[in-house]
Amino acid sequence: MPAEVIKALDLSHSYNSAEVLSGITFSMKRGDYVGLVGPNGSGKSTLIKLILGLEPPSRGSVEVFGRGHKDLTDWNRIGYLPQKINFFNPHFPSTVREVAALGLISAKGPARTPGGKRAAVDHALELLNIADIGDRLIGDLSGGQQQRVFIARALVSGPELLILDEPATALDPETRDNFFSLLSELNKQKNVSIILVTHDIGSMGKFASKLMYLDKKIIFYGSFDEFCRSDTMTQIFGPSSQHIICHKHG
Ligand code: ADP
Repeated sequence: MPAEVIKALDLSHSYNSAEVLSGITFSMKRGDYVGLVGPNGSGKSTLIKLILGLEPPSRGSVEVFGRGHKDLTDWNRIGYLPQKINFFNPHFPSTVREVAALGLISAKGPARTPGGKRAAVDHALELLNIADIGDRLIGDLSGGQQQRVFIARALVSGPELLILDEPATALDPETRDNFFSLLSELNKQKNVSIILVTHDIGSMGKFASKLMYLDKKIIFYGSFDEFCRSDTMTQIFGPSSQHIICHKHG
């Protein structure tokens, strides 16, 4: 397996001829945990869509696990939690288990799960602490509970790369802490590579190994040590916020 999980080369993207991403070149190694930050509208979600092949780039290329999208057959190696889950009809009569199990279906057919599908779903529900509500209808749950079900869906295939777009917004503080700890554990113990898009730089600073600051271009991409020493980042965050982020990371 190549050491690089993602390799983007000169990626650019325009919507209706307005360029929103320009010349994005970076690579991410297996086991990296990248916090992706930047102002609203800076192109974070678009970059995620380009990585996942949900939007074709206007220019440039991206490889995931050493392959272009056309050659990537095993999409179950990627777990994705989109920012907006409101494409989903809350009145759809599916149970928590059924929604979580959707993460085992890929374009190329069912995922290979060592202990069987049921065991994989059980495990994901336990990780998110929702095993006891497995038979409830998703539409009957609170926003925070629904969010946990969608996180379970992203984790159920045991992905090697997890991409999470603002995952913690609907979670109560305790669940949020548990969730960040869980991500950290998956990263450290199972070497799962993670991209976490977030506004919550404090939480991210605690766990992520790298930080990418995007504003149409990559303004900064590096380790937290580099972040703490970056004058560009001092200008953007201000010395005290930068210090707090660095302190939390330490
Ligand atoms: P972020 O995730 O950082 O908030 P986005 O990638 O969602 O940024 O958006 C980047 C820019 O592209 C914004 O100006 C946004 O309005 C625009 N944009 C995003 N999606 C679309 C779309 N489907 N059609 C047209 N413009 C879009």
